[in-house]
Amino acid sequence: MSYGISGIRFGIEGADEAVRCLRCIWISHIHADHHTGLARILALRSDLLKGIPHDPLIVIGPVQLKGYLDAYQRREDLDMQFLDCKHTEEASVEAFNSNEDGNTILPECERGDSTMFARDCMRSCSKKQRSPVKNAAAVPILRSLKKVLLEAGLETLISVPVEHCEPAFGVVMKAANRINRVGKTIPGWKLVYSGDTRPCHELIQASCGATVLIHEVSCKM
Ligand SMILES: [Zn+2]
Repeated sequence: MSYGISGIRFGIEGADEAVRCLRCIWISHIHADHHTGLARILALRSDLLKGIPHDPLIVIGPVQLKGYLDAYQRREDLDMQFLDCKHTEEASVEAFNSNEDGNTILPECERGDSTMFARDCMRSCSKKQRSPVKNAAAVPILRSLKKVLLEAGLETLISVPVEHCEPAFGVVMKAANRINRVGKTIPGWKLVYSGDTRPCHELIQASCGATVLIHEVSCKM
């Protein structure tokens, strides 16, 4: 949701409060309609929290987004930590949870252009078992993310590679059962957001058992 839409929904003070409370933003891919306005929100949060102890906001996104945000930060500090979506793929999260040793294993398939060969490669690679992506620099951010998720009542946040531009991701968030104030069990839930994608094996698998699936669009590219 952009800041402008937040203002319509919550009013200016409500929108500022929503921005102030942000702890993590997840971006699916680099197309402008999915991240335009992000830098403005980050800069505003930084202003609103001046003089107040806080942690940098965690931005999870495709690697190209880091380049954009780093370039922006030459003008203005955005008070954020960037985490590549690949570090939040299932294999990477499992590796992080089981062993925080920071070794680096790159994925088997490196894809960088939009040729027919690359697209075919993307389809076949996406069906392979994904290798964990390890990077020592990501470990403290993954720890911070774990803390943020815990505080939000979430068990996991997993990025799922989908078939759109490269790279593009969907996301799965799970909340555990919880007990409310009167001792009643509130069931957990699983939310899946597709991002932009055409029909995609990984997303179908990731959506199994979802309480809610939010599916943006399906198009051929
Ligand atoms: Zn798109």
